Amino acid sequence: MNNKTPEQTPWRVLIIGAGFAGLGLAMQLRRQGHDDFLILEQADEPGGTWRDNHYPGAACDVPSHLYSFSFEPKLDWSRRFAAQAEIFAYVRQCIERYQLAERIRCRSEVAEASFDEAAALWRVTTRDGAQFTARALVSACGQLNRPLYPQLPGLERFAGEQFHSARWRHDVALSGKRVAVIGTGASAIQFVPQIVPQVARLHLFQRTPAYVMSKPDRAYSRFELALMRRWPWTQKLDRAWQYLFHEVRGVAFFLWPALMKLQRQRVLRQLARQVPEPALRARLTPDYPLGCKRILISNDYYPALRQPQVEVVDTAIREVTEQGIITADGQLREVDVLIYGTGFAASDFLAPMRIRGLGGLELNQAWREGAEAYKGISVNGFPNLFILYGPNTNLGHNSIIYMLESQFPYVLACLDKLDQGVRYLDVRKPAQDAWNRQVQQAISQSVWEQGCSSWYKNAAGKHTNNWSGFTFSYRRQTRRPQWADYELVR
Ligand code: NAP
Repeated sequence: MNNKTPEQTPWRVLIIGAGFAGLGLAMQLRRQGHDDFLILEQADEPGGTWRDNHYPGAACDVPSHLYSFSFEPKLDWSRRFAAQAEIFAYVRQCIERYQLAERIRCRSEVAEASFDEAAALWRVTTRDGAQFTARALVSACGQLNRPLYPQLPGLERFAGEQFHSARWRHDVALSGKRVAVIGTGASAIQFVPQIVPQVARLHLFQRTPAYVMSKPDRAYSRFELALMRRWPWTQKLDRAWQYLFHEVRGVAFFLWPALMKLQRQRVLRQLARQVPEPALRARLTPDYPLGCKRILISNDYYPALRQPQVEVVDTAIREVTEQGIITADGQLREVDVLIYGTGFAASDFLAPMRIRGLGGLELNQAWREGAEAYKGISVNGFPNLFILYGPNTNLGHNSIIYMLESQFPYVLACLDKLDQGVRYLDVRKPAQDAWNRQVQQAISQSVWEQGCSSWYKNAAGKHTNNWSGFTFSYRRQTRRPQWADYELVR
């Protein structure tokens, strides 16, 4: 057991964020017998996205056996697509099993971190003024942790309650209320069906319709659960099957996007079956290629929109007033509660933390044209900084946990290198540039570049978020660090 106080000098590694990424790395460190690490978590408790997103109906759209660590399987997921509470419980179970609670410092939002070249240490300051030093710094903040609020004129005037889906106010009763929801993304399609039965009226403000496919969800039978308990390899089989099933879909995302046209017809036929009303169906029919934005899965979204108390509004919002929302055609819809299902500042990555690397270089300066990193992990000029779920490592077709499990051994190998007399590792600029040229080239051929706006791109249109290939290809490329691509300063 490591007995130093958190602010004593220096940690082998400081991890920012106690979500799946930060906790997974900590679990791997524990498995290797390391104890010299600390996780700084900004919130009151760990859990990342599964702590924040507790809106009604929150669930994962990736099957549970695939959306959990391969090295920490859970044999008794109650259903194929677990709900938030069960995933959050799994996270807490991981913390307990690996005795991580003592290594997590909550209410510790990192304000700034700078690399002290002379000492080869990261110096980290949290908002409460505490200071930490570490030989390596790992950002495990995720891509979807900062709620994005729309910039609508008059928002501040609204007299009713308002909140974001990732900051759900369970104390605001929706029963019998007139509610406006802005946004129709992955979050909204989950909570809208849940609140429709309660509300007196629901105005759903849709800017762009999403493609919604049916969700092959169901509870695991007692037989299946008993089978997995008795023969745990059957769980591995289920996971492997889910992995392959999802991975194959990648072909249509980035090899032959034309395949999406066939699939689109199938999805539209499904929409026609679920929404027989031509006017509503027309409003819900996307006009961009399938897969360009995230494909959503739900069995209750379209049925909910057909309820008499629901109105899908596809006219642009002009302004918000004290009473409600006025659309471009001048119509006012009076509402009591305003819910933002408007997503996250996904391309901001480590912001608003101030990260300074060699020579005082600021990360937001280095990234002024959009975030990028070598293998999504290392950034030139920021030695011994490693990013989990960093730029261009998000997926449209498979589980992000698989990507994280590719990154963990890579980061661990870099940490080991620092134990072998290397003071710091700085990825070389040409290696980083070559990697990003290849990534951007592949993305330019993908379905994400076929004519839509999405959170996969930053405001300037640079594709900063998605990985553009198969996940096994990413795993192969991150299997071990290519030391020639790094400057190793001894
Ligand atoms: P999102 O997919 O970015 O959707 C945001 C929605 O708000 C979009 O419909 C967007 O319209 C709309 N919007 C944003 N700003 C607006 C404005 N100023 N005026 C009007 N409409 C506006 O966000 P999200 O639904 O929170 O999901 C984000 C990501 O989180 C997902 O893609 C997914 O990766 C993850 N997620 C996963 C799950 C899961 O089941 N695992 C559940 C929820 C979220 P436009 O399309 O026109 O921009």
